[in-house]
Amino acid sequence: MCGIVAYIGQRDACPILLEGLKRLEYRGYDSAGIVVNRGGALLMQRAVGRISALEQKLDARMSGPNAGMAHTRWATHGAPTELNAHPHFGDGKRLALVHNGIIENYRVLKTFLEAKGVTMESDTDTEVLAQLVGHFYEGSLGDAVRQALREVRGTFGIAVMHANEPDVIVAARRGSPLIVGIGKDEYLVASDAAAIVQHTTQAIYLSDNEVAVVSRNGFHTTTLDAAPVSKKVEELEMTLEQIELGGHSHFMMKEIFEQPDSIRTCMRGRIDHDTGRVVLGGLTSVNKELLHTKRIILTGCGTAWHAALIGEYLIEDLARIPCEVEYASEFRYRNPILEDNTAVVAISQSGETADTLAALREARDKGALALGIVNVVGSTIARETDAGVYLHVGPEIGVASTKAFTGQVTVLAMLAAYLGRRRHLSAGECNEFLTSLDGITDSIKRALESDGAARRVAEEFQDAGNWLYLGRGAQYPVALEGALKLKEISYIHAEGLPAAEMKHGPIALINPGMPVVIIVPRGHWYEKTLGNIEEVRSRGGRIIAVATEGDRQIAKMAEHVLYVPDVPEALQPLVTVVPLQLLAYHAAVARGCDVDKPRNLAKSVTVE
Ligand code: GLU
Repeated sequence: MCGIVAYIGQRDACPILLEGLKRLEYRGYDSAGIVVNRGGALLMQRAVGRISALEQKLDARMSGPNAGMAHTRWATHGAPTELNAHPHFGDGKRLALVHNGIIENYRVLKTFLEAKGVTMESDTDTEVLAQLVGHFYEGSLGDAVRQALREVRGTFGIAVMHANEPDVIVAARRGSPLIVGIGKDEYLVASDAAAIVQHTTQAIYLSDNEVAVVSRNGFHTTTLDAAPVSKKVEELEMTLEQIELGGHSHFMMKEIFEQPDSIRTCMRGRIDHDTGRVVLGGLTSVNKELLHTKRIILTGCGTAWHAALIGEYLIEDLARIPCEVEYASEFRYRNPILEDNTAVVAISQSGETADTLAALREARDKGALALGIVNVVGSTIARETDAGVYLHVGPEIGVASTKAFTGQVTVLAMLAAYLGRRRHLSAGECNEFLTSLDGITDSIKRALESDGAARRVAEEFQDAGNWLYLGRGAQYPVALEGALKLKEISYIHAEGLPAAEMKHGPIALINPGMPVVIIVPRGHWYEKTLGNIEEVRSRGGRIIAVATEGDRQIAKMAEHVLYVPDVPEALQPLVTVVPLQLLAYHAAVARGCDVDKPRNLAKSVTVE
């Protein structure tokens, strides 16, 4: 979901729009575009990459008009190319639309429009919406937008203009923020207050399924059924930076708290309860090969490697396909044996991780089916794979990955169910799993309630130089991830281990006072892990447990407990990792570290 800014007033729109886009740059984007109404014709310019690239393409004809719209795109449907960048045209280039979000039923709508003779120029879901509004246009843009939106499933924040109505911009939203800023004889529409606060601090916040028809002299708001709604004008009081962070002190914290939403978006449109199936459009072209896959290798680095370890459990459990996990950096140099019917899945948030890319190329050269799980649409890994699944968790800005991790685990869970369902998993069994997966967003929300407790623990132990993280089964990769988060942002030495391995050596490290985090949710491994707690306690280690709500026994054994809700065992990592993300965050804050830009680290590791 990226940025929208639109202007209608007395001043030259273009510089205001470009400045607004720059204020939204922090959100990350891959292309940008702008449109103005010049004497009854829409003039548009779009560019891939930075806003400065767009600026360079603008000629004198763009300056002057005092109504226009601009967009930064973070691609979800179609690669980040100029043709896919917004605005998109409809009604024979008389109408332009910018959009944040995802139109879930765009395929059906596209078929409908194509049957009416409309040809699409891009691969986006957005263009379908632009053409749909154009299809309904009969002289009133407000009416056409309302009518089109009644047909749409999915999320949107949109702004729309029509060449015939130079005095109107229509804005609407569902599940994607949009405000209308009120200036003196001028109005601004934006997806984020950051884009408009330098012009006005008076604004209305649109609610879901509301449409605002904005002109130079005022605006009126209605529901999708054209029932009038009156809106309260509010004062935007926050500073720009606060606005960008949505009330959080750091992007990492914002992203941790975004997880219920990002996971919901990741799953949106992909779970079909009627057939008990997962719909992964990106894999359709390799469906046959996947049916015959006999071995899966998951490869990645850092956090993605941890997600892969959890994926191994899920895939072996649900799909019964032998699965291995390899560090991408090792795999590429190992001359790996890849027999027929092997699929290699490269996992990377940015889709640019050099080691993972090299591993993927190695696998592909050896004839393996190359798949990708990445967040950034159109990234190198996405382009070089045979097929893949996007995370759709939105741009991740904090260097320490949080919502991309839970996104990766969610995609791997869906992939496991997808593969399982094509083998032995019945519709009923698959549905049961998918229902739990659907409910995980509420559980993550509950797990976020451990924030206060995590902060207290972090503050109490901020001076401890060494931490251990222990877990069994799929909680072992969670232990690794918890330890990695702590290392990355607070520079405290931490190690993650399978709890039972401790007695084979690392137990020698435990001295009185050492913090030991044990992930011990209810289930299969519970009793055994309690034994490991005793081993630590008897050597003076101080236990911080991550456990299931209502577990009284653990409260007696551990010094601190971070509670998470009860979820089916296969999905526990999605909730147990949350308090560990929070713990690392608060430890870094307590130690005065730069959370979002930890030393020596880069967001996208494009070197070997
Ligand atoms: N789904 C749209 C696209 O891929 C909108 C992306 C956005 O929110 O920036 O073009």
